[in-house]
Amino acid sequence: MAKIIDGKKVAEEIKENLKVEVSEFREKNGFPPGLAVVQVGNNPASTAYVSFKQKACEQTGIYSVKHHLDESVSEEELLSLIGKLNSDSKIHGILVQLPLPEHIDEQKVISAIAPEKDVDGFHPVNVGRFVVGMEALLPCTPRGIIRLLESYGVETEGKHAVVVGRSNIVGKPAALMLLKKNATVSIAHRRTKNLAELTKSADILVVAVGRPGLVTGDMIKEGAVVIDVGINKVDGKLVGDVDFESASEKASLITPVPGGVGPMTIAMLLENTLQAARMLSENR
Ligand code: NAD
Repeated sequence: MAKIIDGKKVAEEIKENLKVEVSEFREKNGFPPGLAVVQVGNNPASTAYVSFKQKACEQTGIYSVKHHLDESVSEEELLSLIGKLNSDSKIHGILVQLPLPEHIDEQKVISAIAPEKDVDGFHPVNVGRFVVGMEALLPCTPRGIIRLLESYGVETEGKHAVVVGRSNIVGKPAALMLLKKNATVSIAHRRTKNLAELTKSADILVVAVGRPGLVTGDMIKEGAVVIDVGINKVDGKLVGDVDFESASEKASLITPVPGGVGPMTIAMLLENTLQAARMLSENR
């Protein structure tokens, strides 16, 4: 029976440490790290995520401001707000909650954020810097995955890590981060043939797909570490992409949904905001 990876607890510990570091930053610089969160429209999931993020800022002493724009806002107006936030000295991190409405070009908006304020780590400059091994702001969810593995003493070097899903937000960066930690990495996606064959060879299995119960116990190697990134609502309940019950009979360690990767994503956003504030204040 698998041991449960308690992401909520690890995230709380990170936030406790951050409280101290944020207050030290404030004492040294005379102002707190500042995060601007931009929400377009009223997608209920986005509203919930934005409110979790703001609450976490409050908890740790990070200044946060929310810009809530109407669903019908033009791309120009959104880009102009980002321009203002880029030059606002109280703001060190800018987060545009995704997804954006269809009439707005998401990549254009992400690319308009100053890379040094890109606390989501989605800007092509940060992606590129990371790939070539330079200092960069890194995407929160995959950073959270790596921190969970580290917190539970999971060795990655030489291990076979299989990442299911290849999005720019989770799958691709998670695979690159595991590669940096010397795992041998395979990436599976919608067009992968024989998914079960591949997942069964994983020592570390990361699933970020958005399909409830896609991975079942019979697709998991005995003793594997299973990280379930999926967040799906089924009959009003949150479930992951992994069938928790059958998977926990095979895995040695497994993340629950909720309470696994989710809380870590927010903790990493706070760390990124502090990192951006430090970098910006050192370079002033
Ligand atoms: P996405 O839709 O952008 O990407 C899904 C990926 O899954 C694609 O690369 C696709 O090729 C792959 N895929 C789809 N069906 C597949 C199949 N049958 N077999 C193999 N691969 C398949 O999604 P995303 O943004 O990466 O998010 C994935 C999941 O993670 C969602 O449930 C999302 O809600 C969740 N998520 C959680 C957090 C968190 O903090 N815990 C953060 C971001 C996303």
